[in-house]
Amino acid sequence: MKAIKHLRTINNHKKLVMESCFKMGLIRQGILHDLSKYSPTEFIVGAIYYQGDRSPNNAEREKKGYTSAWLHHKGRNKHHMEYWIDYTTGEGEHGGMGGMKMPTRYVVEMFADRVAACKNYQKDEYTKESALKYYERGKEKHMIHEDTAALLEHMLKYLAKYGEKKAYAYVRRYIMKNDLYCLLHFKWRKGEYDGYEVINKNKKDGES
Ligand SMILES: [Zn+2]
Repeated sequence: MKAIKHLRTINNHKKLVMESCFKMGLIRQGILHDLSKYSPTEFIVGAIYYQGDRSPNNAEREKKGYTSAWLHHKGRNKHHMEYWIDYTTGEGEHGGMGGMKMPTRYVVEMFADRVAACKNYQKDEYTKESALKYYERGKEKHMIHEDTAALLEHMLKYLAKYGEKKAYAYVRRYIMKNDLYCLLHFKWRKGEYDGYEVINKNKKDGES
């Protein structure tokens, strides 16, 4: 039955995100992640359009032209970049709308979310590069603040290079505790940063 399978998928996803969040020091967000998926508005649609290998949102979108479950979800969950879309003061490329800079802890939760989603859908095919590859395929279309994109991409690249254990420790000890955001993005905007380099703001220039 689709409802049971959908429930299993959400539970499994929540468990994976929770474990990752805990490892990165996000206890409350780890517990509360995606709770709105259990609300009738999201759950019923998710069960009807259950797919197994991709999000039911895509199936609903194809059928109806929009996704009621997703519209409900992204308005309530701060770990989604779409939650942070707002009017901009200037005339942006999207007609005055754009992605606002997300607080670090939600970028970290988004990172955990993407890793878990890749594991859930790719199963045995999942590798440490999966989430980065998925991100690379979609990044041109994202409406996201460039600094937020830089931070997310940095975490995905770190994971692709060093694996989960090191990546989670790095995020917990480093990204969550330091204001890496500013430093990283200053370099990123100047085109000096490829996303792979680990920036240690406690080290002076010239040290390695
Ligand atoms: Zn979510």
